[in-house]
Amino acid sequence: MSAPDPVPPKAERLGDGTVAVRAGLPEPVKNEPPLPGPVFAAHFHLPGDVEGPYAYGRDTNPTWTLLERAIGELEAPGLNGADTVVFASGMAAVSAVLLSQARAGETVVLPDDGYQALPLVREQLEAYGVHVRTAPTGEDAQLSVLDGARLLWLETPSNPGLDVCDVRRLVDAAHAGGTLVAVDNTLATPLGQRPLELGADFSVASGTKGLTGHGDLLLGYVVCRNAELAAGIRRWRKVVGAIPGPMEAWLAHRSLSTIQLRAQRQWANALAVAEALADRGDVTGLRYPGLPSDPSHKTAARQMRGFGSVVSFTLADRAHAERFMAALRLVEDATSFGGVRSTAERRRRWGGDAVPEGFIRFSAGAEDTEDLVADVLRALDLAAAKS
Ligand SMILES: *Cc1c(COP(=O)(O)O)cnc(C)c1O
Repeated sequence: MSAPDPVPPKAERLGDGTVAVRAGLPEPVKNEPPLPGPVFAAHFHLPGDVEGPYAYGRDTNPTWTLLERAIGELEAPGLNGADTVVFASGMAAVSAVLLSQARAGETVVLPDDGYQALPLVREQLEAYGVHVRTAPTGEDAQLSVLDGARLLWLETPSNPGLDVCDVRRLVDAAHAGGTLVAVDNTLATPLGQRPLELGADFSVASGTKGLTGHGDLLLGYVVCRNAELAAGIRRWRKVVGAIPGPMEAWLAHRSLSTIQLRAQRQWANALAVAEALADRGDVTGLRYPGLPSDPSHKTAARQMRGFGSVVSFTLADRAHAERFMAALRLVEDATSFGGVRSTAERRRRWGGDAVPEGFIRFSAGAEDTEDLVADVLRALDLAAAKS
């Protein structure tokens, strides 16, 4: 049993904001709400033969179907056959692709500077007899370890280092050798980057971050190039049961309608913060793919439609970074990113990522730009004065 086919692509391309506010909405029905409420159902009426789209709540749910169409309209507009599968979290989606596509004896290529839970997935893959090779995201270094792999996993921009790789170049090399390509699109969101248009077979993301943007739910998704790939991903979801609750799916769909508004403000704020940081003597290692001076900018500008809300930089040491974090008033000290309220954190407090003690991952929210930049500069001044 599979969900109904995604809606056919629209003939004319509309702007991102226009697509976002209507994405995934069903045909209007008199006296019904434009976005139907969440359908809470473990099972559906099923007299006689097992047929129709909805039978059991672990396999399909109409609230997921609408959300899957909405995400598909943003990630792969006009791409016939592309199919989206939503999951309970970003990691559920990541694991679905990595653990369902590779068999014992096959090889998977991962970035060595990607999301902090990737090493855990690596352990699991290796426990199942899958070989794992890694290389950095920057300078397309994964090209050198591609040979004979079953699956190439890209994360661009990478979290938290914000390196970028050339997706089309890596896809071309991978496909020439029969290797599938998945891109973690969490940081960019579908508004900032469309991996399937760059040739990837899977676009995978956490919907917990900028996609939904309010920090009030966990969600993940996989957009697959074709129905055959999607069938394998759906099957995995059914087997492990990593399904989103209908309430989360509905909240996510509601939040999606404002993604263009949120992203425009967040990207502008991220660029303004990055530009302000670039002028500071107390900041090193500044990275933002949208800064023309950034090493990633050329590649990013070719393949991205927006550069995201995350800026990373380094202060002198742990104490300096902690003083900065404590002095911020409009920026919450919290992990995650992509929300309407700016957040930042000293990333090394988690262990894991290979970053300096004073490394800050900063996520620009939807505050007024002047207020946000002023708060960051004031906190930097305070942190420097007390050193
Ligand atoms: C947060 C994140 C994930 C995992 O998403 P969850 O929703 O937290 O499970 C995966 N990849 C990247 C790049 C992330 O930032």
